[in-house]
Amino acid sequence: MALSDLIAVQRNDEGIAKVLEILRNEFGDRLQTGHSIREQHGHTTTYLPNQMPDGVVFPENTEEVQKIVRACAAHRVPLIPFGTGTSLEGHVNAPGGGISLDTSRMNRILAVNAEDLDCTVEPGVTREELNRHLRDTGLFFPIDPGANASLGGMASTRASGTNAVRYGTMREAVLSLTAVMADGEVVKTGARAKKSAAGYDLTRLLVGAEGTLGVITSLTLRLQGIPQAISGGVCPFPTLEAASRAVIATIQMGIPVARIELVNALQMKAINTYSRLDYPESPCLFLEFHGSDAGVAEQAELFGMIAEEQGGGPFLWTTVAEERNRLWKARHDAYWASFSLRPGAKGLSTDVCVPISRLAECVAETEADIAENGLLAPVVGHAGDGNFHTLVLMDPDDPAEVAKVEAFVARLNRRAIAMDGTCTGEHGIGQGKSGFLRHELGHGVDVMRLIKQALDPHGIFNPGKTITG
Ligand SMILES: Cc1cc2nc3c(=O)[nH]c(=O)nc-3n(C[C@H](O)[C@H](O)[C@H](O)COP(=O)(O)OP(=O)(O)OC[C@H]3O[C@@H](n4cnc5c(N)ncnc54)[C@H](O)[C@@H]3O)c2cc1C
Repeated sequence: MALSDLIAVQRNDEGIAKVLEILRNEFGDRLQTGHSIREQHGHTTTYLPNQMPDGVVFPENTEEVQKIVRACAAHRVPLIPFGTGTSLEGHVNAPGGGISLDTSRMNRILAVNAEDLDCTVEPGVTREELNRHLRDTGLFFPIDPGANASLGGMASTRASGTNAVRYGTMREAVLSLTAVMADGEVVKTGARAKKSAAGYDLTRLLVGAEGTLGVITSLTLRLQGIPQAISGGVCPFPTLEAASRAVIATIQMGIPVARIELVNALQMKAINTYSRLDYPESPCLFLEFHGSDAGVAEQAELFGMIAEEQGGGPFLWTTVAEERNRLWKARHDAYWASFSLRPGAKGLSTDVCVPISRLAECVAETEADIAENGLLAPVVGHAGDGNFHTLVLMDPDDPAEVAKVEAFVARLNRRAIAMDGTCTGEHGIGQGKSGFLRHELGHGVDVMRLIKQALDPHGIFNPGKTITG
């Protein structure tokens, strides 16, 4: 599929008008139909065109979500759950119009069970809000996508971030959840027990479902203890491939690195300009180690030796919190920093993930492809997981450029899949990657479609996304 060929969804104008009337009576001002709020709830963070919903509704509890779902189901109207709208593949677009269900008013932290290292939250709580709330408990929630996303959205895209190499992704972090299904009933997928062998794993069916199977109304999440000591720093390398080889050696040696992020020279230049820093403008790894004082020093030194073997270094590291915070703030701002390389451009973020042993090969072939095709595409990645992004900067109004970028993305996704990897390590499928799902999973897509039909027979939840091919 070409990136520009979004899946069409037929509008149901009559049904939409009826649902808007029901919601207006029920929710008053908490149903909004103004142009700018609808536009803001269509997709905004990427190259894909905006497709607005007809109304945005702000429920405050599960019962209100049930009412909205029942109204949409009765009149066969699309319902698109919305967290903070930071997803990158057109996930919250409304190709057939319909209702955007914004969870921002469902933002209560319902329980923190410090002795069990878990908490239960409503879906609109953001990851930063949760960590602020946990500050005095000695615990933290480790999953950190570059945006301050909602926990419902993060569960729905199976998100991860820089800490995933040590603490896992939303797949590991969600112990159980509650969701409103297409018939308006509430399902609870599990308990707070650390393990369970009770039947089908409904938690993991809904984690990563991208709002296509139900609306998550609460989540029980695994928390982590704040480590006694943290060290971190930046290490330059002569080539991106050498940096990738250092990542592979670090992981294969079992060094329990907490963060190991790959950044190419172009991205370093953008980071320096945007965040007013003076890091080396060569390929670099950003690293962090968690543990005891002695442990983090030992891990940093071991890594320094690995880097040297690959021609990298010096690895300058610190345990000073302010310096580390500055480093990771700059890393998290890398996406926005990239736009300084071509003001006015739109960005298309790729997201392949390969087995760690294939990382250097996949990165090297991709860099060569970028150079051969004259693309402006900084590289950054959660390399410890074998996951890296290129943000291709382009003019979406130039058809020749769009075609060139689409061809590059297709080659990259197929390259990763051929290496037994995936076209998306963390951003999800949404609209933008739906054309690659069958290539990756084959008949698995038909099984997904059967599940979708069984759970959402009228196709009200987030139509035109995920399983379309
Ligand atoms: C600068 C930047 C950096 C990023 N870095 C990363 C990164 O490092 N790692 C990463 O994984 N992602 C990253 N992302 C992508 C994005 O932050 C994640 O996909 C995030 O999980 C989306 O959360 P959200 O609250 O914004 O969800 P939204 O965009 O609002 O929604 C995402 C999807 O989830 C569904 N959804 C939302 N809430 C619910 C609910 N309660 N029930 C059911 N379905 C729901 C929506 O329908 C939609 O399909 C980045 C994005 C930006 C802009």
